[in-house]
Amino acid sequence: MTTKAASPSALAHLAFCQQHESEMLSLLRKMVEIESPSDDKAAVDRMGAFLAEVFERLGGQVTFYPQEVAGNHLKAEFAGGASDRTSGKPVLLLGHFDTVWPIGTLAKMPFRMEADRAFGPGVYDMKAGIAMMIFALRALKEAGAAHRPVTILLDTDEEVGSTTGRPIVEATAKDCEAVLVLEPSQGPQGHLKTSRKGVGDITIRVRGRASHSGVDFEKGRSAIVELARQLLEIVKFTDLGRGITVNPGVIQGGTRSNVIAAEAWAEVDLRIARAADAAELEKKFAALKPFDPDCAIELSGGINRPPMERTEGTVRLFGIAREIGASIGWKLEESSTGGGSDGNFTSALGIATLDGLGALGEGAHASNESVVIRELPQRTALLAGLIQSV
Ligand SMILES: [Zn+2]
Repeated sequence: MTTKAASPSALAHLAFCQQHESEMLSLLRKMVEIESPSDDKAAVDRMGAFLAEVFERLGGQVTFYPQEVAGNHLKAEFAGGASDRTSGKPVLLLGHFDTVWPIGTLAKMPFRMEADRAFGPGVYDMKAGIAMMIFALRALKEAGAAHRPVTILLDTDEEVGSTTGRPIVEATAKDCEAVLVLEPSQGPQGHLKTSRKGVGDITIRVRGRASHSGVDFEKGRSAIVELARQLLEIVKFTDLGRGITVNPGVIQGGTRSNVIAAEAWAEVDLRIARAADAAELEKKFAALKPFDPDCAIELSGGINRPPMERTEGTVRLFGIAREIGASIGWKLEESSTGGGSDGNFTSALGIATLDGLGALGEGAHASNESVVIRELPQRTALLAGLIQSV
């Protein structure tokens, strides 16, 4: 990895992207109008087929990873631009084309442009990021720029935990020099993301004993009361100073108010800032004992996305990004987030990963989901510059 940013051409990339802004927006519109919820394989596969065609037209070698339930994951490989680095390890552009929006959302939330924003389901998370990948490659081609080979990997179940995408993301990243993640940028200034928390979830299930609350009160063992006591223990595991949070986000149990509840359960979200904290936190859960010896507790789950820590490799990539940004008059900043992405997996493997390179916007997973149009060209130019400099 070189540390010198290819600043002279970032301006050229910016000019290219500005000239092609309306073309980029019409591609974005097409993508948003192909709805692709994670849990609808046929729909996600339609999106994959559309993208495969776009990548092939750009000269990419497309590979699908067929899946039975999830949509087929998609890889596109592009040769390096003329340089001594054409035979080097590729740079990986990482993202996903599934969204959280069910089919039919478009009817209520159609793609529209208003006041320098483009709105629509999945526009920000993260179809704009995919459009940026495509136009960054086009800008590099147009400039005849020297760069490494580029691999684009887009999975289809990121929004539901990347269960089938994860091994493919990891296997692909292992052969790459660096990973650039086109997930949305952070906050109203659009900071890049240099660290992300690890994510987990644990289900705690309590079994008590049912009885009639009026006739046989003392024979019952309330699973609800036991669960409530367990939750008060669990929330003590939160340690804000260390970036550890524990949130019982869903709770359910019982049948009727006049029945002592035989069953109750809670789904608990976990976040950790450091990989080293995972084992200790999981151990604390495993050590939970029922307060009432006649109740039984059962735990399942654990940490499923390791944290993306602010490693030396990530800091180096951010340094390059900042130089490129400065060369087009843009002061870039970094931040951390509690949310996870597929970048967590690649970073945990020790591969330099920079995240949040996608669009500036707001409302991911919300009805005001939108991206800021005027920022798209400069963010795409930054991506092109990074591909050239890694
Ligand atoms: Zn996303």
